[in-house]
Amino acid sequence: MNDMSWRITLADVVLDERERAAVDEVLRDRWLSMGPVTERFEAEFAKYLRGGQAVAVTNGTAALHLAAVALGIGPGDEVICPTLTFVATAAAMLHAGATVRFADSTSLDDFSIDPDEIERLVTPRTKAVVVVHYGGFPVDMDAVRAAAARHGLLVLEDAAHALGSELDGQSCGLLGDAGCFSFFPNKNMTTAEGGMVVFREEEPAAKARRLRSHGMTSLTWDRHRGHATGYDVVDLGFNYRLDELRAAIGIVQVSRLDELTQVRTRLANRYREKLAESPFTIPSFGDRGRSAHHLASVITASLQQREAARARLREQRIQTSVHYPPIHRFSHYRAGSAELPTAEAIADRVVTLPLHPMLTDGDVDEVCNALLTE
Ligand SMILES: *Cc1c(COP(=O)(O)O)cnc(C)c1O
Repeated sequence: MNDMSWRITLADVVLDERERAAVDEVLRDRWLSMGPVTERFEAEFAKYLRGGQAVAVTNGTAALHLAAVALGIGPGDEVICPTLTFVATAAAMLHAGATVRFADSTSLDDFSIDPDEIERLVTPRTKAVVVVHYGGFPVDMDAVRAAAARHGLLVLEDAAHALGSELDGQSCGLLGDAGCFSFFPNKNMTTAEGGMVVFREEEPAAKARRLRSHGMTSLTWDRHRGHATGYDVVDLGFNYRLDELRAAIGIVQVSRLDELTQVRTRLANRYREKLAESPFTIPSFGDRGRSAHHLASVITASLQQREAARARLREQRIQTSVHYPPIHRFSHYRAGSAELPTAEAIADRVVTLPLHPMLTDGDVDEVCNALLTE
């Protein structure tokens, strides 16, 4: 559904009768929270990633929190986290009880965490590094994993932008110790609210499954089927369960992903062609692997040029955004934070253009024309 005030929105969802029919079926079957449909969603998701143990949860922030706790990140630990990401990446680590050390971006051509920052920020208390595949572009994982191995750190992937991204033939989300996805409506697929944690190893996955439902050793679904009669509580857990309605939507959305990513890729390439000889630069993001093209980012020459470009687009009722105001600049996170000049320069000069599978080539041309007519 489009906001009436925008002609071209930043993001949009792709839904039709297939999602409606899937939800209807759950309502008819009358088993509403985590059960067989959620299990099937997890299996389809893992199949799409070509590996891993998938654990469905209520949202992407819960996925990050659950991953951190399942991997043993807690009070007394430090986590290195990029500053140029959505605030949830850092908030989840704080909720796990850890302290966050913010890392700078690589360059104006590659917004993701600078792997050299790991060496600068690491202390004897550092337990993990979180990476975010900004806009869907894979992080330099060889460099991150090498630094992590040198210091015995866990690697947690915030893959909220990177469903469908690959590096060296492997899916993002399976490149570290845990990968976290969000199905919020502005992501590459949606379940309304929803998220997924994936692990390469069975042990943390089993722990995450338990923690997702109060640390209990059996589920209501198991008891309903007569597979269990009682339960013990072996961990301090949460209620991060997904429900069957959302899982049913998720199964349909996963089946659409290849097609949706293809459209995103075609539109992203069109932006790149149209803006090639212009004052607006599309970063290369290090040109690693395959991007799921979650965001269309453009770097302008200055803050003034960025604000002027955004105003021109707004006048044409074309929605834009800035991903992201750096977390270390927010009031709650500011205390004790040093300057992180590259991320700050990106935040001043970046603009995110509309990119979603409902856009046409003509829409992209219109956005570019509005950008280029001063
Ligand atoms: C969307 C997003 C999240 C949070 O996901 P929710 O499902 O909204 O909780 C975390 N990190 C990044 C990078 C995101 O884009």
